[in-house]
Amino acid sequence: MKIQRISALSDNYIFLLYDQDSQTAAVVDPAEAKPVLQCLDELGLQLVAIFNTHHHYDHIGANNQLLEHFPRLCIYGGSEDRGRIPGQQVFLKDSDRIEFAKRVGQVFFLPGHTRAHIAYYFPPNSPQDTGELFCGDTLFAGGCGRLFEGTPTQMVNSLTKLRNLPDNTRIWCAHEYTLKNLEFALTIDQDNLALKNRYNQVKELRHQKQATVPSLLKEEKLTNPFLRWDNVAIQSTIGNTDPVRVFAKIRGMKDRF
Ligand code: ZN
Ligand code: FE
Repeated sequence: MKIQRISALSDNYIFLLYDQDSQTAAVVDPAEAKPVLQCLDELGLQLVAIFNTHHHYDHIGANNQLLEHFPRLCIYGGSEDRGRIPGQQVFLKDSDRIEFAKRVGQVFFLPGHTRAHIAYYFPPNSPQDTGELFCGDTLFAGGCGRLFEGTPTQMVNSLTKLRNLPDNTRIWCAHEYTLKNLEFALTIDQDNLALKNRYNQVKELRHQKQATVPSLLKEEKLTNPFLRWDNVAIQSTIGNTDPVRVFAKIRGMKDRF
């Protein structure tokens, strides 16, 4: 399974998963049809599936148009999103399995950003391989999604599921928010050397107009404040040791940042 990153709208990423043997492709969260169709054309691929993480327009915007082009394609989404995802045919629950290009993906139910959000995780085929996580707007590089329909408790549970994945998991999140996220992270985790280094790298990458997605879970665990509610330095900055309270406080600060 190969993965191609496609830029869409102002800061969205669409991910095209494809298999050269069968000339088939799937897309995660198609915000726009045009760049997807162009990419399929260039690579000579047939679109067979859409994997949606949640119902927001910048994730499902191209569902109908792509369905018109490929009437036999199958549209996947969370079971709680029934009625909110155009063309949805498969209604997924936590731990469900999906198959694409001889890889089996696992579904995580991750309420928080929305009440129905899901992620797709493809475990590595061999120990030196990376796992691939398509996590929509739940976990971002250096940040996490806003709580539109969920509670801090739900989001901490959801992020805990992701934090428990192997370090060598690539985080394919749906937005290029990394620089702003790390700027915020530095305000509450000033003495974190790994964070300072990452900030400098990301600043340089963005200066060269390069993408910072995917990242590795290993670096998220070291630098993303929304996975670090049990870090002693952050807890002391926030003035609390309860994971959910620490998370809620940081999320609130970020909303106003
Ligand atoms: Zn969203
Ligand atoms: Fe989004």
